[in-house]
Amino acid sequence: MTNRQDRLAQWLRDAHAMEEQAETMLNAQASRLENYPELRQRIEQHIRETESQAERIQQCIERLGSSGSAMKDAGAKMMAFMQGLGGMFAGDEVVKGAMAGYAFEHLEISAYTALIAAAEEAGEQQIAAVCREILREEEQMADWLKQHLPNVTREFLAREETGGPAKR
Ligand code: MG
Ligand code: FE
Repeated sequence: MTNRQDRLAQWLRDAHAMEEQAETMLNAQASRLENYPELRQRIEQHIRETESQAERIQQCIERLGSSGSAMKDAGAKMMAFMQGLGGMFAGDEVVKGAMAGYAFEHLEISAYTALIAAAEEAGEQQIAAVCREILREEEQMADWLKQHLPNVTREFLAREETGGPAKR
């Protein structure tokens, strides 16, 4: 392996851990949402995309002849679990969750933007193509959240005022 391929493999393992973390957080969010069906549906769609992203990244890692880091993934899952717990006790859980989701999508966007350049520099065009495909999915999820965050916020405020179930 060249130094560039080695570095690429390391960043792909980081991306894999990030997707595992995303999966845990999105699952926790979706399972708790009761009164925001449109948001829940979009999150469920992105859970399926995220599972497929983790698989595609795993295949890229295997193509490079490097194995994933199970320890790191376990650590990421635990961190995501703790973050999930934090959000559960907030009375404005749905708004904080949508905000956190929007921020997380941008973490992913930055990771895949760097990975595309790293894959190209390592001469791994197929891996660059996979990362471009995943980047589009993250951008679409970020765009959706940006578009719907105002309405989620308005709906939360209206529900809170009328004493309806608002927090999730
Ligand atoms: Mg992702
Ligand atoms: Fe994502």
